[in-house]
Amino acid sequence: MGLVGQRLAVTDAESLQRVLGGRWSWVREQVREALCDPLFAPVFDLSVDEHRDRVLEQARAIATTPGPRFLFPKDYGGEQEVGAAITAFETQALGDLSLLVKTGVQWGLFGGAINHLGTEQHRSAYLERIMDLDLIGCFAMTETGHGSDVQSIRTTATYDAGSEEFVIHTPDDDARKDYIGNAARHGQAAVVFAQLVTQDESRGVHAFFVPIRETAGKPCAGVSIEDCGHKAGLNGVDNGRLAFNQVRVPRTALLDRYGSVDVDGTYSSPIESETRRFFTMLGTLVQGRISVSGAAVSAAKTALTIAVRYALTRRQFKAPGSDDEVLLLDFLQHQRRLLPALASTYALHFAQTALVARLHAVFNGDEADDDSELARRKLETLAAGIKSTTTWHATHTIQTCREACGGAGYLSVNRLPQLKADTDVFTTFEGDNTVLLQLVAKTLLTNYQAEFGELDTIGTVRFVADQVVETVIERTGSRALLQRLLDAVPGHDEEASLRDRGYQLSLFEWREKHMLEGAARRLRAGISDGGDPFQVFNATQDHLLAAARAHIDRIVLDEFAAAIEGCEDEEIKALLDLVCDLHVMAMMERDRAWFLEHGRLTPARAKAVISTVNELCGQLRPHARLLVDAFAIPDLLLGAPIALASGSVQAAAVQ
Ligand SMILES: Cc1cc2nc3c(=O)[nH]c(=O)nc-3n(C[C@H](O)[C@H](O)[C@H](O)COP(=O)(O)OP(=O)(O)OC[C@H]3O[C@@H](n4cnc5c(N)ncnc54)[C@H](O)[C@@H]3O)c2cc1C
Repeated sequence: MGLVGQRLAVTDAESLQRVLGGRWSWVREQVREALCDPLFAPVFDLSVDEHRDRVLEQARAIATTPGPRFLFPKDYGGEQEVGAAITAFETQALGDLSLLVKTGVQWGLFGGAINHLGTEQHRSAYLERIMDLDLIGCFAMTETGHGSDVQSIRTTATYDAGSEEFVIHTPDDDARKDYIGNAARHGQAAVVFAQLVTQDESRGVHAFFVPIRETAGKPCAGVSIEDCGHKAGLNGVDNGRLAFNQVRVPRTALLDRYGSVDVDGTYSSPIESETRRFFTMLGTLVQGRISVSGAAVSAAKTALTIAVRYALTRRQFKAPGSDDEVLLLDFLQHQRRLLPALASTYALHFAQTALVARLHAVFNGDEADDDSELARRKLETLAAGIKSTTTWHATHTIQTCREACGGAGYLSVNRLPQLKADTDVFTTFEGDNTVLLQLVAKTLLTNYQAEFGELDTIGTVRFVADQVVETVIERTGSRALLQRLLDAVPGHDEEASLRDRGYQLSLFEWREKHMLEGAARRLRAGISDGGDPFQVFNATQDHLLAAARAHIDRIVLDEFAAAIEGCEDEEIKALLDLVCDLHVMAMMERDRAWFLEHGRLTPARAKAVISTVNELCGQLRPHARLLVDAFAIPDLLLGAPIALASGSVQAAAVQ
């Protein structure tokens, strides 16, 4: 640690904060400043109604800031800077997550659907009012009977050529729109997803602008609204259930960018295949998934800031021969609980930053090396994988932080119970994580080649069974920065240090390739043995999910390593190198059985992984406070008294 320890003595949290801030650091500053108003201070003992009122008031305040406008085109009063919008959202997640989700529904989902699925007439009619929160809306996709399988929803929108209207109808309780944000109290309209029927033919899922409440707040004729009631968390969001009884809306209510209906009922679409059209429509809404992912990283940062700061003031048990009790963070096991989670939060921060940059490039049409459809397909796959990883990470990390704070962690005033309750559902909404990982595996197995979305499960299995080519690893743009490290990897594992970055990168890449090829082989073997494609797929599901995880683990490491390579401040670079090593070693420790089974770790090296984790924890211990302070969470938002009682960065670092 010598050199690193000495060098890091002069490192301050602000310089590390600048490195974390990245391209849209000015937005982070803007949002932090806006949230440092007592209106946004954390509260925990409100009734559901009070919480909903407070969140609405906060949302109105956010509507006066530039944040929401970044999402929308300049022609309609927006700023059209999607990377800035997602960064603003991620920063807003340092505050009340109910506010975050309510505004996410309003601007990201409701506004996003009007913007991306609608055309000029819809944008000019609604976007300005949506940005101003003058028109509050819902995104009504999920039904009681169908959540993950959206293509099977059963609400219908039947065109009546006589009146030039669509009739929106809920055939039974299973087809009610369920869990819909903003529906129970504040929503005036909804983007409703329904099966479009015209000239007696079903044309698949389309989206419609449907008013749900009159000005006075009463439901519109034919619309029934139920309150979902108290939830495990996010109780400042008014989730509700919507049902439609032959509700008539004009022909122009169809958001018709990807499919339109003429006055006489003739249907036309720029995309012929119904399935492909459906996935193209969903793909335009990818920003929602990326936003939730960013919010999960922010929530993990908040929890870690609280737990690490507490661990630097809380003492238990005297060391023999000493009058002083020991600081929690000086116990190895406490370091092992918090510091690898902190290291992985850094890794995911950089992976998320790269994902946002890719979203920005794809939406701006400035991805140089890809055709735009392929670029979108890659973005959607990456977003699905990173979202699963960050939200699971947040769930585990927040629980760990709660336990690491003992009884104090269980008190609402210290934020952790609320953070746990509010982020729990991040693993479910914007796509259930397990279902998303299957999507990642399917896309990887088909090497992004197939017409996107045309392949259902059976199609994927058949496609893979017909392929003889080897699985190709999808490389991110960041790989170019890493080539020097990869070129220096020795031929034999034993000759490489466990902490050699090139070795780590090549090991993770090898694991991904091995798992993908193994899954493909199992699918092929199942089919050539005459198996039913669905059964074959189902019997391989565990392998497919493991391969998807290995893919994302590799991408996250690539992005973290590339960010370190690109870092110009040598002191920060040295610190981030340690953090990255701990991230990798902790993952290898977790998966060492797999690496042993596959001959990539000897028993002696597997044991060395464990001792390296211990060593790295010890080396990072003096910098723990600095690492969380660089997240720059304002005290007002942090709220937790146990996090605010501790001293300065320097004081903590030298203890
Ligand atoms: C608080 C909250 C807010 C929400 N807000 C909105 C909103 O504003 N608008 C909206 O439209 N929706 C909203 N939703 C709905 C949300 O998007 C769905 O809950 C989500 O898509 C999952 O659907 P489901 O609940 O039907 O779960 P299901 O799809 O029934 O999944 C249940 C379980 O089965 C597993 N599973 C499903 N399929 C497979 C498979 N093929 N293989 C293996 N496992 C599988 C899943 O992993 C999961 O663990 C919200 C939900 C909540 C809880």
